[in-house]
Amino acid sequence: MKFLALTLLCTFLCSASPLSAAEAEPDGPAIPQEAGAPTRSPLCIAFNGFNTLIRDGRISKAAARSELPLRLAGIRAEYYDRGGRDYSPAQWVFPVAGYNAGAIDRGGNHGFVSSGYDFFSGNRHGGHPAYDIFIHDRNQDSRDDRSGKAVGVLSMTGGTVVALETEWPQGSKLRGGKYLWVYDPANDLLVYYAHNDALFVEPGTIVRPGDLLGTVGRSGLNAAKRRSPTHLHFSVLHLKNGQPLPVPVYRDLQHAKVMP
Ligand SMILES: [Zn+2]
Repeated sequence: MKFLALTLLCTFLCSASPLSAAEAEPDGPAIPQEAGAPTRSPLCIAFNGFNTLIRDGRISKAAARSELPLRLAGIRAEYYDRGGRDYSPAQWVFPVAGYNAGAIDRGGNHGFVSSGYDFFSGNRHGGHPAYDIFIHDRNQDSRDDRSGKAVGVLSMTGGTVVALETEWPQGSKLRGGKYLWVYDPANDLLVYYAHNDALFVEPGTIVRPGDLLGTVGRSGLNAAKRRSPTHLHFSVLHLKNGQPLPVPVYRDLQHAKVMP
């Protein structure tokens, strides 16, 4: 039996076309290929797996804390090797197409609560180190009531896509739904976009400010509920001594370039 399994494995791995780690993983999400522009990055694909372990509480916090900066250092080097460029906050783009900072929750701190947040608590984290950016969607079909069209989620910063989730079955306990993380090596930031409807990138995709990442949606445990108006949950973490800490970026969002 063991021999048979090994033979099958060898047949699989030694077949004519080389397989990447993602293709060899039968349960992994299907990753779209951009025509003519291979964006596969083994480091980013591996980071996505690492992030999923953190998200699901399947790695100790201590192990994750020490691994994170090492993994990001490799991704940073690869980003520049692959032609990634630095973009300063002055070049940042508002992350929802057709909207500006006026669409952010109007609570005292615009919804930003960093206390109680720990990146390494994954899906069970406390606080709300984020800004919720609401679109006009009274009938909750994830389309702008004014245009009838989906609303683009744009990369605020430059960087590379390091993690994402493209599936969110109804009833899933995952709070972020179809989420996406971009690592911005220039400013040492992890930028999080959650509750998307569709995602158009994959781990290793290099993005510039304003590039289309996906569309605003209602995926996620609470975001899917009737009481929740359709919004992008947007969060920026700064790596301080290798550890991701929330940054209040409301002023940056106010000054970010607005795209149609
Ligand atoms: Zn939120």
